[in-house]
Amino acid sequence: MSFKLGTVDGKAVLIKDDHYFDVASLSNGAISSDSVEALKFQTKLSELYETLSENNATGNLSEVELGNPVPKSPNCYAVGLNYRKHAEESGMDIPEVPMIFTKHTSCFVGPKANIEMRSDYVDWEVELVAVIGKEGKNIPKENALEHVAGLCVGQDISDRPAQFATTPAMFNLGKSFDTYGPMGPALVSLDLLENCESLDIECKLNGETVQKSNTSDLIFNISSIISYLSEIVSLNVGDTIWTGTPSGVGIASGKFLKDGDILTSSIEGLGSMENKCVRISDHSRANIVPEFMKGFLKD
Ligand code: ZN
Repeated sequence: MSFKLGTVDGKAVLIKDDHYFDVASLSNGAISSDSVEALKFQTKLSELYETLSENNATGNLSEVELGNPVPKSPNCYAVGLNYRKHAEESGMDIPEVPMIFTKHTSCFVGPKANIEMRSDYVDWEVELVAVIGKEGKNIPKENALEHVAGLCVGQDISDRPAQFATTPAMFNLGKSFDTYGPMGPALVSLDLLENCESLDIECKLNGETVQKSNTSDLIFNISSIISYLSEIVSLNVGDTIWTGTPSGVGIASGKFLKDGDILTSSIEGLGSMENKCVRISDHSRANIVPEFMKGFLKD
């Protein structure tokens, strides 16, 4: 199955080169303009994608801003400490099973959205994101990729004081502030990638590389995560799985995002996102630095 799916003004579009094609009009109303609903018709999407050159584009990508590819995603599962070097820099042991937490999908924004920060300790985490295209439960590893509609880039933006406000830490809220889930630029089906298990991944802060790795370094690959997760929860079409971040996050060096910073997140074959960081307000714990973080911080 081949397609590149995004959204413009909340409506599902297929993307080819510099053009986008409205899915609902392209399919004469047969496919919904809700991208999660559209993913239930992947064969049709793929057929439409093959015939794009015979159709007039809805418009040029340069004239619009792409949104989150699955703004109505039902669930967001994420893995902590899934690259060996990142587990080391965090001073944590390598987990035996994926360490899963959730982000609330209300934080999802597009590949060019502003990141609205509410403390001085907001951190970056570039991640490979898999989107489920076929529901399932107890999915064996060998069949897991059949359940993936495609991949995109994600930024698991994390407010560290909120994340570590309690013991044990509560990852979900610190990583779910509004705007803390940029995704994009589009959902790329696995068939359009040469090797979906080995993709270069990079994050730049104001043009300077801060994270650089390859997804072949994942401790738990997409198939293992899906298989483990689906023992516990039923996976639904549109659910997103954030596979974890490589080493080089801010907390390890005591450097955090500042007002006006530009965060560029890229994955081979999937494209790039560029998000501007904007410091908008303080949350109630914005200045309460967790004890363990103090060792990392510079004066
Ligand atoms: Zn993460």
